[in-house]
Amino acid sequence: MTPVKKVTKAAIYARISSDQTGEGLGVQRQLKDCRKLAAERGWTVAEEYVDNDTSAFRGKARPAYERMLADIESGSRDAVIAYHQDRLTRRPIEWEQFVELCDRAGVEQLVTVTSDIAFGNDNGMLIARITAAVAANESDRKSARIRRKIAENVELGLPNGGAQRPFGFEDDRMTVREAEAQIVRSLAERFLAGESVRSLAAWMNASDVPTTAGGTDWRTTTVRGILRSGRIAGLREHRGQVVGAAAWPAIISPEQRERILLTFASRQASGRRAPRRYLLSGLLKCGKCGHTLFSSSREDRRRYVCLSGPDHGGCGRLTVVAPPVEGLIADAVLLRLDTPQMADTLTGREQHDDKYQILVDESRAVEDKMNELTDMWTEGEISRADWSRARKTLEARLEAARRQIALLRGTDTLSGLVGRGSELAAAWDTLNLDRQAAIVRAVLDYATINAGTPGARTLDPSRVAPVWKL
Ligand SMILES: [Zn+2]
Repeated sequence: MTPVKKVTKAAIYARISSDQTGEGLGVQRQLKDCRKLAAERGWTVAEEYVDNDTSAFRGKARPAYERMLADIESGSRDAVIAYHQDRLTRRPIEWEQFVELCDRAGVEQLVTVTSDIAFGNDNGMLIARITAAVAANESDRKSARIRRKIAENVELGLPNGGAQRPFGFEDDRMTVREAEAQIVRSLAERFLAGESVRSLAAWMNASDVPTTAGGTDWRTTTVRGILRSGRIAGLREHRGQVVGAAAWPAIISPEQRERILLTFASRQASGRRAPRRYLLSGLLKCGKCGHTLFSSSREDRRRYVCLSGPDHGGCGRLTVVAPPVEGLIADAVLLRLDTPQMADTLTGREQHDDKYQILVDESRAVEDKMNELTDMWTEGEISRADWSRARKTLEARLEAARRQIALLRGTDTLSGLVGRGSELAAAWDTLNLDRQAAIVRAVLDYATINAGTPGARTLDPSRVAPVWKL
């Protein structure tokens, strides 16, 4: 028999864990049972330590546990009461540290509601160690179970849960909500026609469309997330990767989504971020020195100017007022869209198809590999670190292929524009600047602005010499 000292400053430890699978108990219940146990033994409880972490396994900080260890170490506790050993810790190594600390501090009593562990007894320690190992194993099995459940959903193309329903779908995540689906289609079309995500978010805010969170605050990240998601194209994703067809219907076609991704890639490559204020930014050259003109405004008058100095390198001797030159170029672009040779050019571009197909095949092959990789991780064949390392390499290859495709296709905008010049001209002023710029850029390579007569009140059209892309 171990000599029993009178316990006068016991610690009660309770912890709530969200990974309870039915056998778990709320903190109040844990505390009640522990207090009862203390009373039965005639122990005085000095302090109750309660942690609110989600799992003893994620290695998250447990401030109350740490405080209890410090109190044990300083000699101000002489016994520990917990509901079950796994409330204290499930990690064998942490358990060893706990035992060692108690040993050093001379704490010999650890009782749990479910079983007793006496430190002075080798057999008790062995049982405690085995219990810790079993708890560790159980936690592994739990995450394997959750992983298998996710894998099963992935395979069936079924949705996972989540806090909010996805935009365009009902709460069941399977049924299309038609009013929102129409908005998703508009977003896709307008984006492909050259509108920026920022401008689309502004449009959403202006039209008072509620978000699925119930607010009306549309952010660019939300809009970008919708556009990029495989979900709207009826594709099941797992960890950001398309893994196959989904069980829910598509709102936009997978081809449309592919073009959206390509557009994102090419816009990222061109690195444009600030909202556009000038239709012809970067498209005009100085007729005197050949440098690109910069947009600038002076006294509320928007202008394009040649800038000298180390940062710009131009001659600094040419200026043109923006609105007339923008009007002139826009008219020329719209006229050009309706010319017969434009239709021919567009047909000619299809010749790129072979190279294009090779790149598309390459990107599909990389995507397949990514899926395979995810399968391997799901099956537990590779570690998360291996998965993430291999995935980075594949992502780089995919990105490279997508950029090449984007370059090859040029702007996708054009195919929907040819032959529609007069129609667009009628609506031109109602199009936003992003859309207008996308149309101009599809056709115009650049325009040289020649020197004008000093003091001229109007723009002489012969000053503007456009160089057409197509
Ligand atoms: Zn110049």
